[in-house]
Amino acid sequence: MTFADLPTRLRDALTEREYSQPTDVQAAVLEPQALGRDLIVSAQTGSGKTVAFGLAMASELLGDEGIVRQANSPLALIIAPTRELALQVSRELAWLYGSTGARVATCVGGMNPSQERKVLRSGATIVVGTPGRLRDHLERGALDLSALSAVVLDEADEMLDMGFRDELEAILDAAPDQRRTLLFSATMPRPIEALAQRYQNNALRIATVDKGRSHEDISYQAVTVSPPEVENAVVNLLRFHEAETAILFCATRDSVRRLHATLQERGFSVVALSGEHSQQERNQALQALRDRRARVCVATDVAARGIDLPSLSLVVHVEIPRDAETLQHRSGRTGRAGKKGTAVLIVPFPRRKRVESMLRRASIKAQWIDAPDRDAIMAQDRERLLETLMAPVEVTDADRDLAAKLMTQKTPEELAAMLVHAHRSKMPEPEDLVPNTPEARKAAQKDTHRPGFEDTVWFRMDIGRQNNADPRWILPLLCRRGHVTRNEIGAIRIGPNETYFQIPRTLADKFAAAAERTAGTESEEDSIRFEVSADGPRVAARQNRKGRSDRGQRPRPHGVKVQPSRGSDGKKPGGKSGKFAGRSDRKPDRNTDRKPDGAPGGKFSGKPEGKSFKKKPGGKFTPKNDRKDRGKPGSPKKFGTPKDPFSQS
Ligand code: AMP
Repeated sequence: MTFADLPTRLRDALTEREYSQPTDVQAAVLEPQALGRDLIVSAQTGSGKTVAFGLAMASELLGDEGIVRQANSPLALIIAPTRELALQVSRELAWLYGSTGARVATCVGGMNPSQERKVLRSGATIVVGTPGRLRDHLERGALDLSALSAVVLDEADEMLDMGFRDELEAILDAAPDQRRTLLFSATMPRPIEALAQRYQNNALRIATVDKGRSHEDISYQAVTVSPPEVENAVVNLLRFHEAETAILFCATRDSVRRLHATLQERGFSVVALSGEHSQQERNQALQALRDRRARVCVATDVAARGIDLPSLSLVVHVEIPRDAETLQHRSGRTGRAGKKGTAVLIVPFPRRKRVESMLRRASIKAQWIDAPDRDAIMAQDRERLLETLMAPVEVTDADRDLAAKLMTQKTPEELAAMLVHAHRSKMPEPEDLVPNTPEARKAAQKDTHRPGFEDTVWFRMDIGRQNNADPRWILPLLCRRGHVTRNEIGAIRIGPNETYFQIPRTLADKFAAAAERTAGTESEEDSIRFEVSADGPRVAARQNRKGRSDRGQRPRPHGVKVQPSRGSDGKKPGGKSGKFAGRSDRKPDRNTDRKPDGAPGGKFSGKPEGKSFKKKPGGKFTPKNDRKDRGKPGSPKKFGTPKDPFSQS
């Protein structure tokens, strides 16, 4: 399959970009059997999927002569999980459809909504946006979907993970029945299949993700360090690779802020991307990376999702990704569209086993190495400097005059040394690292705490393995009920009948208060009560073992009221002991139109993100993804209908 059969204007746009061959996913969506059909496409980020859906919907958008069809309202709608991704998609479609007369409008959280309404009113052909903002425009009558002939869900798995199910359903329910629905997703978990089943008709399945192949262009390295050496290792990795553009991933905004400041201080040209930056600041940061004023970007997962920087050749996982999927998402920022890239995981010694098993799960073979030391960096510098200094340059007469004058004052050796020094002094100094010796590893094993989790409080709940306890639904439940984020939850220990989890002491009061307020409010999960456990899981483990030889002795009462009390070290949790700290006052993560607790649109929807569960009569919690009572595409679902307490969001 080639681009030859495309409408001329699209073909010309591709030629101008020097895209001569379709990528696998582009070839697949252009096959005759895909024409006009709903598509469910599993395509990795970086596979060219944006151009793929751009080309796939050409048959719906273009009329004679390859000019866009006349209509009074938008013909195509693309929904993407984050503002950055939406803006990126918008840019791609703008050049692809630039000469067809199509007008592309972008509607994303954090931008001026009245400006967007104006653009929508003035006649947009293609609308690209984030779920929350699009639903807002829809509910206020600013977005008319009556002429829509194609809807694209980009990174659909991310959108469901981020809790946008309600918004997606509202938008899809409001779209005409006869539209085409193109669903793009890196992974195809059950909630995605369910969404496809409900909103697509006889969809053609396209899978271009080949596990082995998707890593082909990315070489993985895992660098073991002593925990306090992480920042120094980052400095040395940046200096060793001297990538044109590098992205560094951290787990929290705080870590982003700290690392950004550290690197700036050491002389790197660095920008930061996290939820605490305004849209304008983020756009400026991305622009600085695009036009090479900055070479390093420190980012959180959410802020960097879907970002496409063609010159990005180095990804550093400064803080270990939370799972294999995040690892792949982050790493997929490099090795795009056939280019080579390197992804480096910085692994504090005590966490090596965890990383090894994550890599195994993702079928990734990484090279385990030490962080580059000063000597290795100097050697690399020498090679690079030789290459730079020996590269041909155009010399002017003025240059020659000055050179002649210099020659009268210094020897050639001195001049050459000065030239080398001038180049070298622009580069930040490498750091001296503690050698990776058995002694250093042993010392590091003593401190196994994640930053921020040095002082924690254990909580427990009466749901264990026998009730299907699983971190996949427990994490969203804790976030929703306790008004905390995933990163604010420490270890989770699941026993046969109960589960223990850690909350940083500084947040424990606030967590307890929020959990108490949300108890028994909406769904059955809300009947689960959390209590502070003075002893943590260790004592429980002993009791469990005892219980095994002494069955039936130990069931603990359900519904024990949350009472902040003493933690494992005997201290009281939090600073406001006794008082309920009230609802989270953290700023929303402005990267999406989602609020920090994970509840979309600022309301506590009373539903867990991702999977949702019902309790079976036998006491088990089971996923409700496979419900058969869902309507078919276009089935009436009005805004504001009572929420199904067990549906996924
Ligand atoms: P995406 O998966 O949409 O994020 O695309 C990844 C990168 O590949 C983007 O920079 C695209 O512009 C680029 N790209 C898309 N299609 C092609 C193609 N046929 N040839 C070369 N590069 C492409």
